[in-house]
Amino acid sequence: MNYYICETCGVQHDLSSTEPKECKICTEERQYVSVNEQSWTTLEQLVQSNQFKNEFTAEMEGLHSIKTTPSFGIGQNAYLIQNKDFNVLWDCITYIDEETISKVRELGGIQAIALSHPHYYSTQVEWAEAFNAPIYIHEDDKEWVTRPSKHIIFWAGDTLKLHDGIVLHRIGGHFKGATVLEWNSSTDSVLLVGDIVRVVADRQWVTFMYSYPNFIPLPTNTVKRMAQQLNSIQFNKLFDAFHRVISTDAQSRVQLSAKRYIAALEGELFET
Ligand SMILES: [Zn+2]
Ligand SMILES: [Zn+2]
Repeated sequence: MNYYICETCGVQHDLSSTEPKECKICTEERQYVSVNEQSWTTLEQLVQSNQFKNEFTAEMEGLHSIKTTPSFGIGQNAYLIQNKDFNVLWDCITYIDEETISKVRELGGIQAIALSHPHYYSTQVEWAEAFNAPIYIHEDDKEWVTRPSKHIIFWAGDTLKLHDGIVLHRIGGHFKGATVLEWNSSTDSVLLVGDIVRVVADRQWVTFMYSYPNFIPLPTNTVKRMAQQLNSIQFNKLFDAFHRVISTDAQSRVQLSAKRYIAALEGELFET
């Protein structure tokens, strides 16, 4: 019996004696099945291969990004927030080994795990078990949980205060339960967005997509609503899931980006 992991998205599935027939996450228009067809591995195989290592990068006071090299699955990074003795793992990555667990313990462990959306569920249950931490997932994305666990807490509504200084906001868009994390650290106001909002090549701008790999945009009304919700949050810095950062004045950059996006959808950005 194994907890099989899809090699394309890196999401772990429930215990089974044979490889699952398909990956629920990848056989859906926001992801894709690899051109080399569906393939599976396990966490034990990944660890035993000795191919992977998690790199920790100090991003700012109290914030480390964690990324697997070489890249595995979608290739996102997770963030460890050190907040007043209450550490939060924001989003998750598939690879976890003893070295990772020791390093996280040195940084104060994990008191809660919060997820932006299903593409990053990865091995969240392995992380939760290693640190005996609850996992917070918006109930609107319940159907996408491929490995159930007693550690998972489904939350409802538009906001959830996780701890002093840390609030989850469901803003939808990319997924119905898509969530961003507001963190008022001792030194700055920060928004962690996964890929619910994504910093683009020009680091002064962000985008909002239904599917990133398949280039499917979101409708005007959805982006307007997301921008309105984001406008109610104070944040100066923004970190996305791919190590792209807007390091100052991020709130106004998000609002300008939403305006440009809507103008593009409505044909107002072009000379045609
Ligand atoms: Zn998959
Ligand atoms: Zn995604």
